[in-house]
Amino acid sequence: MARYTGAVCRLCRREGQKLFLKGDRCYTDKCAADRRPYPPGQHGQGRSKASEYALQLREKQKAKRYYGILESQFRGYFKMASKRRGKTGEILLSILESRLDNTVYRLGFAMSRAEARQLVLHGHFLVNGRKVNIPSFLVKTGMIITLNEKSRGLDKLKSAIEANASRQPPNWLEYDANALIAKVSSVPTREDIDFPIEEQLIVELYSK
Ligand code: SF4
Repeated sequence: MARYTGAVCRLCRREGQKLFLKGDRCYTDKCAADRRPYPPGQHGQGRSKASEYALQLREKQKAKRYYGILESQFRGYFKMASKRRGKTGEILLSILESRLDNTVYRLGFAMSRAEARQLVLHGHFLVNGRKVNIPSFLVKTGMIITLNEKSRGLDKLKSAIEANASRQPPNWLEYDANALIAKVSSVPTREDIDFPIEEQLIVELYSK
């Protein structure tokens, strides 16, 4: 599947927000969004007030980039969310949050969602005891996520687990850090998503 392969720090600067796409570097003073807090490009510092459409578009782009998803898949998630009962924007975020790559990142097995995606693709995780190598796999309440026994010695994984040891997993995941086993205890809710996003603007954009 096609992926964005350009400079990721540009994406944060474009959205005017840290999207934490580069792992370690995002927490250092090398972060480009902190050093140059204005949009990239020749006219980055001279842009005028955004229109309503531009605000809606930016919010959608921000969510896509935060979760590392391309347009067609994102639109698919929106369709899925709009068919469910409840607030479409909140359901959309809940679906995005339930992706296996995001879950692996939230558990601290990776330094970024891109890294989590790679780890899932390489078959390092089991869901209910079976290898799942599909980053977009949606986890559901009651599912058990474990690290593949053969992968436990992997340096990349060991260093991420160590670096993220103090990070608290979200409320919807029960995590045993000693056994490296997690259980999905509930559906992720809006309160579980601390990323500042106005999901209603995305709904407005797609409802035009
Ligand atoms: Fe974004 Fe991280 Fe780059 Fe900072 S270092 S601009 S948060 S990807």
